[in-house]
Amino acid sequence: MTMFLDVPVTGFTGNKLDRADELRRDPAAIIGLRGRSDARWLVLDKLNPVVRPGGVGGETPAILWAYRSDVPHDALTIFLGMDGDSPRFAAAAPADELVADFGGKVLDARAAGALLPAHEAAIVAQARSIIDWHQRHGFCAVCGGPTVLAKAGYARQCTACKAEHFPRVDPVVIMLAVRQDHALIGRQPRFPKGFLSALAGFVEPGESLEEAVRRELWEEAGITCGRVQYLASQPWPFPSSLMIAAFAESETFEVRLDQDELEEVRWVTKDEVRAALAGSGDFLAPPPMAIAHTLLKAWIESGD
Ligand SMILES: [Zn+2]
Repeated sequence: MTMFLDVPVTGFTGNKLDRADELRRDPAAIIGLRGRSDARWLVLDKLNPVVRPGGVGGETPAILWAYRSDVPHDALTIFLGMDGDSPRFAAAAPADELVADFGGKVLDARAAGALLPAHEAAIVAQARSIIDWHQRHGFCAVCGGPTVLAKAGYARQCTACKAEHFPRVDPVVIMLAVRQDHALIGRQPRFPKGFLSALAGFVEPGESLEEAVRRELWEEAGITCGRVQYLASQPWPFPSSLMIAAFAESETFEVRLDQDELEEVRWVTKDEVRAALAGSGDFLAPPPMAIAHTLLKAWIESGD
């Protein structure tokens, strides 16, 4: 048995910022960093990043790093970390000025995951999940009192009972059940026509990841599974999931569909998946930024 697995690189990962946790606890240090001439802001307008569009030469878009003077002083702001020696923040604010003065463009956050350089998409994921959390947690879950941003964005504190609240991450298992030379994929009713992907579901309190994988496959497809093997994980900032990808050994080919969750499930071969990933199959496969793509790719490349 090998102790260390080669984990594939997934979309929304590769953030190069030093999150500098020690600075978050020091309000004076954060104020100092905000005042620095090399401090820059990622602006999210309705949770979508403001970017510099790709130029006529076809360059890829990139985050438009704004100056402090271009961000409303009362905008909700979080500390992202340090880019080398330079502080980086994110703020929730309308993009109007950045669009008018700097040629910025508001990019849909999902599209950002595919179009931005990987390390910048990862920064957008960090910023989007935390800002979304702040916007939905204005009141204390203990006493109902108003809460205020704390720890440079990594907590909220109740102004009445002083309880501290922390940003949440919601674990989701996403898995390929495999049996002999087939894997199970399916489509949710909300998926685009012809699109099939790995099955997925939220981990519930009081279960392990392996148990969540087996339970979801049983609930959605009626199959029982034995061994479960972890592959990789991925932050998914819609709003704050952590996708955990795994393979599961199915004990049967016989499926029983949960029609509330899925419209169709299908056992596919590696050749069918290869064709779909190449864009020439008889179903649409998930794009490279999605960890379901990583799962399918790892499966067709595996010896099993
Ligand atoms: Zn409270």
